[in-house]
Amino acid sequence: MGLAFLQKEIAYVKGVGPLKAEALGTEMGIYRVEDLLLDYPFRYIDKSSVTPINQVSTDETVLIKGVLYSKKIIKVRNTNMLIANLKDASGFIELSWFKGVRYIDKYLELNKEYLVFGKAKKYKGKLSIAHPEMEDASRGLELGLEPVYSSTEKLNKLGFDNKARRRVLSVLIGEIQKQTLPETLPAYLVDSLRLISRQKAMEYIHFPPDYASLEAAQKRIKFEEVFYFQLKLLYTKAQRQVKYKGHEFSLVGEYFNRFYNDKLSFELTGAQKRVVREIRADLGSGLQMNRLLQGDVGSGKTMVALLCMLIAKDNQFQSVLMAPTEILAQQHFNSLTESLKGMGIRLAFLSGSVKGKTRKQVLHHLKEGNIDILIGTHAVLEEPVRFQKLGLAIIDEQHRFGVMQRSKLWTKSFDSKAPHILVMTATPIPRTLAMTIYGDLEVSVIDELPPGRKKIHTIHKTDKHRPQVIQFLHQEISKGRQIYIVYPLIEESEKLDLADLQQGYERLLQYFPPPNYKISVVHGRMKTQDKDEEMQRFAEGTTQIMVATTVIEVGVNVPNASVMLIENTERFGLSQLHQLRGRVGRGAEQSYCILMSSHKLSKEARKRISTMVESNDGFKIAEVDLELRGPGDIEGTRQSGTKEFRLFNIVADQGMLQTSRQIARRILDKDTFLEHEQNRILIRRLMQLNPHEKDWGRIS
Ligand code: ADP
Ligand code: MG
Repeated sequence: MGLAFLQKEIAYVKGVGPLKAEALGTEMGIYRVEDLLLDYPFRYIDKSSVTPINQVSTDETVLIKGVLYSKKIIKVRNTNMLIANLKDASGFIELSWFKGVRYIDKYLELNKEYLVFGKAKKYKGKLSIAHPEMEDASRGLELGLEPVYSSTEKLNKLGFDNKARRRVLSVLIGEIQKQTLPETLPAYLVDSLRLISRQKAMEYIHFPPDYASLEAAQKRIKFEEVFYFQLKLLYTKAQRQVKYKGHEFSLVGEYFNRFYNDKLSFELTGAQKRVVREIRADLGSGLQMNRLLQGDVGSGKTMVALLCMLIAKDNQFQSVLMAPTEILAQQHFNSLTESLKGMGIRLAFLSGSVKGKTRKQVLHHLKEGNIDILIGTHAVLEEPVRFQKLGLAIIDEQHRFGVMQRSKLWTKSFDSKAPHILVMTATPIPRTLAMTIYGDLEVSVIDELPPGRKKIHTIHKTDKHRPQVIQFLHQEISKGRQIYIVYPLIEESEKLDLADLQQGYERLLQYFPPPNYKISVVHGRMKTQDKDEEMQRFAEGTTQIMVATTVIEVGVNVPNASVMLIENTERFGLSQLHQLRGRVGRGAEQSYCILMSSHKLSKEARKRISTMVESNDGFKIAEVDLELRGPGDIEGTRQSGTKEFRLFNIVADQGMLQTSRQIARRILDKDTFLEHEQNRILIRRLMQLNPHEKDWGRIS
């Protein structure tokens, strides 16, 4: 950074040239010197000590030193194989090659001493190293930690293998040492955190003289990555608060109080009360709220949403509540209409299926300000939808709404101010992820379920227990309960899933024959209207069993359902399983979640299932999920920018994440615009790292 040489095109670097440069660009996105320097090794091979041959064990990657004792070419199924033996003071070991045999045979000299590096495997009871790296021992192998870079076949073919890359890198690092790589962190941070300089870090990450130096380099680079990421989030947030004033809901008035005192049929949980207080403080602050509300399934987020919308009403503002599916939106509409009966609050529903005259009327009344609360699906974000005075937008089950869609909310109202935004999610996000993905949002957590909920009993069963399971289902149905049976949905192969579902359905018909039993079927390929009808039949209790693919995952509320049976559990992710389980246990009855799987399970699947059996705690489950899958696969992380991290690992380096966030916050508390002399370097680097950020305030 700041060094012209870093921007030099890679083709002009000695040892690269146009062909390799072309391949580096297309295959790895490496165009300039800097790109190559920032493409860090993904592992290091320890070549720092020589192992005596008699101490080599299976599957161990070792460096040995010995004399080439014998070699011969043999024929194995029409192909040549080179077998050699290496001897040191402690014993013998076999080396083997089945590619490039002639060439290697010519190159290897008997009775010469070699340094040999490779992985020992047992082959027919004998230890052998296939295709080892061989180096003339008298010339000496570079001892130490050898970096390994990711590469492609094409690059290797062009001769840009690990070795060639290291040669190029050593030239580049030499250049950096001559010119001095400028610092990118303020001196006070480098000192107080005992970091090594950027220059040293660059050198040691590619050519570590020892473990301690490597660790120091990694620490410095990781810190810088995560620190600038946090600084960006917090800086953005601070700017937004300064630039975009919010609607001030100064009043908690008649609507809120009347509802709270006369209508609310239960006592709010402590957590709900706390969260409402947090939100109220935001709404009254004069700043625009951007808050994430996390709460496990069934923790009562809807009531929090309702109370907030009443505050909006008290201040003469309109609200919108968005849900990811038609069914869920409809359910919200019905339950809110019921809760608010007689309050004189005007609600409306809008989704893709609201058409014609009804739609026109809804749009008209919204514009006129005759509707207080709009509930709907994505449809509320569409172009013609305009509010008179939108003060609050609540988004339920956020992970289905992209950042882009959220940003559309900014333009929905006739006055130019952005509405307060509350994002609700039941997919618990581990703290670490929350700090990165939603790092610029305030976070509220409902960490308490309403009283009297019974813990859902979770059981793991395999096919051989099926008769028992069926018997149990019969018992539950005879008690008047209802049952979900869920099959996995794999997008690539909807046909297959449908077949699974169909088969399962037919089998069920034998155990639960009509007319005594009625079964609903819902899957992703059905028309929305048919789906809704089936859901409705189940919700009303007309059918006792709901067989479905994961379409029921989000939101649906049928308190009488007491069993969630999941087929092929091994094919579900943890957070999905937890979501599904949350569909039951909503009534007063003891509920059950039965996880069916085949007998043979991968280690990971076993861990997922045992986690489900052991824990009902969504946050704990989310942590395990993150550990098992890594952040890349967790919903919502893909667009979050966590891929920007090259070395920093959100799971392994949690401690550093917290520290860096605290440090960034402390800096901004004292110097919100990063104007102090010592912080100039920070703002410059921030802009440099994010050149495309058009409007720093508007990312929500
Ligand atoms: P979620 O957080 O999953 O959206 P809901 O808002 O759907 O949860 O609430 C689940 C159920 O719990 C609803 O039937 C709701 O009326 C009920 N509920 C919410 N808060 C309380 C409370 N404090 N006490 C008792 N029941 C509550
Ligand atoms: Mg909900």
